[in-house]
Amino acid sequence: MTDYKYKRVLLKLSGEALMGEGGYGIDPKVVDHLAKEIKVIHDDGIEVGVVVGGGNIFRGVAGAAGGMDRAQADYMGMLATVMNALALQDGFERNGMTARVMSAIKMDEVAEPYIRRRAIKHLEKGYIAIFAAGSGNPYFTTDTAAALRACEIDADCLMKATKVDGIYDADPMKNPDAKRFDTITYREVLTRDLKVMDATATALCSDNNMSMIVFNIDQPHVFADALKGLPVGTTVVG
Ligand code: UDP
Repeated sequence: MTDYKYKRVLLKLSGEALMGEGGYGIDPKVVDHLAKEIKVIHDDGIEVGVVVGGGNIFRGVAGAAGGMDRAQADYMGMLATVMNALALQDGFERNGMTARVMSAIKMDEVAEPYIRRRAIKHLEKGYIAIFAAGSGNPYFTTDTAAALRACEIDADCLMKATKVDGIYDADPMKNPDAKRFDTITYREVLTRDLKVMDATATALCSDNNMSMIVFNIDQPHVFADALKGLPVGTTVVG
């Protein structure tokens, strides 16, 4: 624990982080691998809250683009995050951790309702708290829900797991000269129009001085390294 710079974290996992090579849905092997990586920091005493996305199953904007009512489609997207949350809970518990799913939309048979003080109690007891159904409101994203929950549970930082090892000044897939930032401010993220999170999530973190580490989820031991302050990604500060 002494090596760690942070004690309580909110981890944002996109839905895509749970899918395997099929390009859709949930791959239990991928979930198991993620759970094992997270177990390393959990066993070292880090308190872990997780917000999971739903893009591997359904996104509201995609439904709306196909002609659906946007709010209706967003509720479907939120339900997709609940499926991902249950898969994660299963993965965590198979690996010897206790995990609770707390849903922003009430569904008592499958998840606890999200209650902030109860979530904090779970974390204090060493349980992993998985926050499902985003913010419970259409027209938002799970990035915004992650920023919101991070502030609510008084997390020391938000960890955003991506497929890229940080934030670059240009798309590193398209531009070989793209440079990675070690540290950047939220203001710069907004003024340079860097596509890290949506503007609502960025503003929420910025207004509340919530630091965020952006890192590549496929790098081994990346959760522990990031929380020890090793240069594995980009840190965004207020
Ligand atoms: N969503 C929503 N409100 C929220 C969070 C999510 O309506 O507070 C819906 C929205 O339709 C979104 C979908 O849930 O497209 C899945 O979330 P997201 O796209 O953020 O998932 P990710 O890209 O992280 O997999």
